[in-house]
Amino acid sequence: MSAKLLEGGSIADAIKAEVKETIAQMPQEQRPQLVAVMVGDNPGARAYAKMQRKSCDEVGIVYELKEFDESISEADLIAAVDELNEDGAVDGIILQMPVPEHINARTVQAAIASVKDVDGVNPANLGAVVMGQVEGAPCTAQAVVRLVQETGIDLYGTEVVVVGHSEIVGKPVALLLLDKFATTTVCHIGTSDAGLLEQHTTGADILIVAVGVPGLIKGSMIKSGATVIDVGINRVKDEEGKRKIVGDVEFDSAVEVAGTITPVPGGVGPVTTAMLLKSTLYACQSHR
Ligand code: NAP
Repeated sequence: MSAKLLEGGSIADAIKAEVKETIAQMPQEQRPQLVAVMVGDNPGARAYAKMQRKSCDEVGIVYELKEFDESISEADLIAAVDELNEDGAVDGIILQMPVPEHINARTVQAAIASVKDVDGVNPANLGAVVMGQVEGAPCTAQAVVRLVQETGIDLYGTEVVVVGHSEIVGKPVALLLLDKFATTTVCHIGTSDAGLLEQHTTGADILIVAVGVPGLIKGSMIKSGATVIDVGINRVKDEEGKRKIVGDVEFDSAVEVAGTITPVPGGVGPVTTAMLLKSTLYACQSHR
């Protein structure tokens, strides 16, 4: 058996088209504005910012990258975030990761006004997820929910297993799917260390993996016909030493067992980017 590929590209295009159409109907001066805050000059953060700008340009969101010197203190960075919070023209604020070691990303993210927190990382927005609010949720969690919905599976009573319990992916995904009456199990390092991971994953109708360990989930750990959403993004070298990106699921063995599977790259990633645009539009509509 070879699983059906659940690709993110066309789903992302559909989300972007909706966002673009809504923005096209807004007066020019009211177009949503997203500000990315970057500290220092990390190549990964810069590449991500470039991609964000391109996506924003595509749909008509005004994008600004605010760069700060690597030596900025946490207090000064928070003061800069406060200024953006007060700026009525700014709808969304994101902190580009990584930040230098002397800055606590969580503290800075918590300083972003919840209405402008388009990454969904502010404690208030994560709290709203507990109440079932999807719109303010972290973009990756929203992307996973959208991908699951695209399969057309009725989530009521479905066995869902989420591997990974991070604040930005595993926990919000589990809560959002729980809210749709899936029976949701969350696995983590403790599950693996207890030797129980496979026992849980093989029972999943929908398996969501967000860990950051290349190939952690093998085909033998997947229920036949299951839907597999691979959130992982891992940079590894192939046999010839060439760099490539792989997920947390061992694709070649998983594709033989699963019913539907997201590729890496090209699965969750593009939908997450599109969700950032959707969240920026939502923030603009909410706070103006
Ligand atoms: P994270 O904060 O490092 O969380 C990883 C989670 O996996 C933690 O809950 C950790 O448990 C758990 N874990 C670690 N090793 C494990 C193991 N052997 N067995 C079971 N659980 C294990 O990472 P994240 O931010 O959630 O991201 C996870 C992956 O998704 C990364 O590869 C990241 O690059 C990727 N990602 C992709 C997107 C996208 O748009 N596609 C967006 C965000 C993240 P403990 O904390 O208890 O150790």
